[in-house]
Amino acid sequence: MSGRDCDIAIVGAGLAGGLVALALARLRPEIAVQVLESGPAPGGNHRWSWFESDLADEGRRLLDGFRMMQWDSGYEVRFPGFARSLGTPYRSLASQDFAEGLRRQLPPATIRTGASAQELDCTGVTLTSGERITARAVIDCRGSAPSQHLASGWQVFMGRRLRTPAPHGLERPVIMDATVDQLGGYRFAYVLPLGVDELFVEDTYYLDTPQLDRSALSARLDAYCRANGWDGELLGSEAGVLPVTTGGDFAAFQAAQRIDGVAVAGARGGFAHPLTGYTLPFAVETALIIAANADLAGDQLAAMLESRARRHWNATRFYRQLGAMLFAAAPEQRWRVFARFYRLPEGLIERFYAGRDITLIYGAMRDKSVAEIAGILFPLAQHVIVTGRPMSTSRPVPGYKFAKWAVAYQSVCHAVAGFVSIARCARPLLSPWPAPEGPNAAALAGVSARAAAAPWVAVFGVDGACRRWPGR
Ligand SMILES: Cc1cc2nc3c(=O)[nH]c(=O)nc-3n(C[C@H](O)[C@H](O)[C@H](O)COP(=O)(O)OP(=O)(O)OC[C@H]3O[C@@H](n4cnc5c(N)ncnc54)[C@H](O)[C@@H]3O)c2cc1C
Repeated sequence: MSGRDCDIAIVGAGLAGGLVALALARLRPEIAVQVLESGPAPGGNHRWSWFESDLADEGRRLLDGFRMMQWDSGYEVRFPGFARSLGTPYRSLASQDFAEGLRRQLPPATIRTGASAQELDCTGVTLTSGERITARAVIDCRGSAPSQHLASGWQVFMGRRLRTPAPHGLERPVIMDATVDQLGGYRFAYVLPLGVDELFVEDTYYLDTPQLDRSALSARLDAYCRANGWDGELLGSEAGVLPVTTGGDFAAFQAAQRIDGVAVAGARGGFAHPLTGYTLPFAVETALIIAANADLAGDQLAAMLESRARRHWNATRFYRQLGAMLFAAAPEQRWRVFARFYRLPEGLIERFYAGRDITLIYGAMRDKSVAEIAGILFPLAQHVIVTGRPMSTSRPVPGYKFAKWAVAYQSVCHAVAGFVSIARCARPLLSPWPAPEGPNAAALAGVSARAAAAPWVAVFGVDGACRRWPGR
């Protein structure tokens, strides 16, 4: 440690800071780590949920020492006139279990609670008490901070854990029950069966303003629980307001919070899913990356994370556009975006939640129902590549023919009735975004030229598309 108090000082023992400490303890146990947390315990007071498919194997292994809820048979969604069961396993970790897991897995005294940082710099941290902790590298994990440089709507929610008077009979989580009254924005109930007579029930809204009306939400939770026969003993509660980022100037955001030589991780660094506000998959990935690069000097670590955050921002642009589309819709109609989304193939839904790229090839379509699915996919895709000819020349595709490209475009653009389509800036024959660079760019340009004259037959092939034209 060369006379320093520790090798790496982490400020904030929330999800991001705790996981960085854990990854370092697992992968680089010889490195001395000090985590400084202002609160009384790591993790605060909430629970983090995620889909099993959000994480790679290494990420799952990082979390395997925590006691968590696991629903291997998947989950449900409910909308007016439409319900679906999906098979993707779902996970949830309560902050108490996170704190307990960290205590068990980290060397004693790694986390100091009640230690509030006043100043961070590239050589250490000064606490509000005046104490100075010196380190080779400092990582700022103090959680999200509001920024004038980012535009957003808001996800506002209140949840409670309760014991039902009798077994509730629910076996799988209900991630979205949007059959509830739509009040002020997209509203849904979120229900996790934590035990035969224990539930976590949350009332969530996508709103234009960050206002959490506690008494109104509490009364609506009462009503929802009563309607389902879940009156019971209150075991705990949580509430939150998360930004749903719809745009902004990320360079200015980074510049405003940059402390020279100090690395930034977690929500503070911008490692969040723009549309859900969730950070867990990115926190896991960042923790592993930091552990793999733990020998870097502090300023190099800072530069590496800043550049990863920029890449994350660029890679998630499409989700911000989708969020903008959601908030542009009339509040009581917003649920339709998600109702349509949940009709998509399961693999695509997984890619969506994991924040991965979706590429849509729009060229030849087998039948009308596929055309309708393409209509849902179009606003979800990071890249839309219009090929103008069937995907498979060996199996010519009869069926849904468009007289000319304009009809196809029209059909796709307005598939989500009443919504401002993000495709409004589409250039004829091509995607709303520039064609991906690489060996296919010229071919795409050629295809688009040919397509102008071609009669339109369309097909989409998302997985194939991703392999042929990797996203940026
Ligand atoms: C109620 C609620 C439910 C959520 N559910 C989910 C979910 O299901 N899945 C998901 O992925 N995300 C969820 N989120 C989003 C959540 O904010 C992030 O996933 C995650 O907690 C962000 O991690 P973080 O470590 O960046 O920040 P935080 O977890 O907020 O941690 C920041 C930590 O820094 C500490 N700190 C702040 N200032 C100082 C200081 N000066 N000195 C020392 N310590 C300091 C804080 O006390 C805190 O412990 C939820 C958020 C809330 C509020």
